[in-house]
Amino acid sequence: MRVLIIEDEQRLAATLQDLLSLNHYTADICHDGESGLDNALTGIYDVILLDVMLPRLDGFSVLRSLRAQGNSTPVLMLTARSDVSDRVEGLDGGADYYLTKPFDPKELLACIRALSRRSPDLKQTENLTFGDLTLSKDTFSLSCGGRSIHLSRKEFDLCELFMRNRSQVITKETILLRIWGYESGAEDNNVEVYISFLRRKLAHLKSRVKIRTIRMVGYRLEDGEVS
Ligand code: CA
Repeated sequence: MRVLIIEDEQRLAATLQDLLSLNHYTADICHDGESGLDNALTGIYDVILLDVMLPRLDGFSVLRSLRAQGNSTPVLMLTARSDVSDRVEGLDGGADYYLTKPFDPKELLACIRALSRRSPDLKQTENLTFGDLTLSKDTFSLSCGGRSIHLSRKEFDLCELFMRNRSQVITKETILLRIWGYESGAEDNNVEVYISFLRRKLAHLKSRVKIRTIRMVGYRLEDGEVS
């Protein structure tokens, strides 16, 4: 799960990022509305945390613009009490949830879980399956038949990305954005390395599922028995 934090209070943004990564989310930060909107429009995020009072473009305008451009990523608005009383009408802008600052971290996590449940393909607790493979979110493990193997965080994210996009070709660029994010400096080479890690684990599990390389495009998960 990838979360975008659009929040100009740098300490709060950093605290949110720490809290999210402790809870196995990957979180990116934007400190103003304009760059926040640009990043949100890439569509790589599962949930967006959006402050109201922001430099360059306020949160309500970001939200309106997102929805006007057809982006339906769940949005949790973080509002100061004064923002709410000043702009009650603005609260109809299409946000999915509102939290008033200061908020309890537990409440924030509960909201994010609720939002991610709203997208049908983002169930938090459910195991994902493909072919003879099962990916467990609870134990960060991949299993096949009676065998099971632990995945590193990035291997898990990569495996999840493949299993959620069943049999679709996933480009290297998508993998880079989803697993490493924008500012990481990761390159195609990192993708290849992690694909080879995952392939080794599939072989170890003796799974019939393969990661097929689609030349010049990307990768696709294939169930050996079907193809
Ligand atoms: Ca603010």
